[in-house]
Amino acid sequence: MLQPSEIERVLVVMAHPDDVDFSSAGTVALLTDAGVEVVYCLVTDGQAGGFDRSIPRTEMAAIRREEQTKAAAEVGVSTLHFLGHIDGAVEVTMQLRHDISAIIRTVRPQVVITQSPLRNLASTYGSHPDHNAVGEATMCAVYPDARNPFAFPGMPCAELDDWAVDEVWITNGPDADEFFDITTVVDRKISALRCHISQHVDPDAMEERVRAWWGSIAVANGLPEGSTAESFRVIDTR
Ligand SMILES: [Zn+2]
Repeated sequence: MLQPSEIERVLVVMAHPDDVDFSSAGTVALLTDAGVEVVYCLVTDGQAGGFDRSIPRTEMAAIRREEQTKAAAEVGVSTLHFLGHIDGAVEVTMQLRHDISAIIRTVRPQVVITQSPLRNLASTYGSHPDHNAVGEATMCAVYPDARNPFAFPGMPCAELDDWAVDEVWITNGPDADEFFDITTVVDRKISALRCHISQHVDPDAMEERVRAWWGSIAVANGLPEGSTAESFRVIDTR
C-alpha cells in the first residue's frame, strides 16, 4: 500500500454527497495534513436524498453541492467535480466511464478512493445500487479507459493525456485489508458529516451511531477501545 509520503494526488469518486464523509473523510484529513492534494468527484447531486418534503427537488441539487463543498473544506479539500448524473438512476454506461476517465486524466492521481463494485449481501444500506455502479464504472475507468490513449475517440476525454492509477482503495470492504487510525481527526470527520444538514433528521443520534461504527472498525483491527478507524480494500492497479 502506498504511504501518504509517496502520494502526490488522490481522487475520491463517490455516488452521492455525504458518501465520502461517512466512509473516508478521516483518511482524507490525514492525507491533506500530510500535504497530499485530494480532489472529490461526485457522480450525482443527491437529488433523491433527505427527508424534508417541503424542499423542492429542483433545489436539492444546489443545496447538496453547497453542503458537500463545506464538508470538503473541513478536511482540507477545495477542488470538487460534480458530474451531474441523476441520483437513484446511476448505471455503468460508457458515458459514465468517459466522465470519470476525464476526471482521472485531469487530476492524474496515484490513488483513487471509491465504493465497492460488489453487492455486500450482509449490508442492504451499504449496497445502494448507485454505489455499486459508481464502483464498477470507476474500476473500468482506472483500467482500461483512462490509461488507454485510444479510448473514447472523438469525445472530450480523448483530448486529455492518458493516465495510469497505481492503487484503488475500496471503502468499507467487504474484505477490507488496510485501515487508517483516524482517532486524532475524528472530530473533523464529524464536522464534515454535520455539514450535510439536509440529510440528518437527528444529527446527535447520527453522530452516536457513526462513532460506534468507526469504533468497531478500530477494535476489529486491533486498536484500543476508544479509537476510531476507516478500512479499505487496497487493489494494486499498476
Ligand atoms: Zn450514497
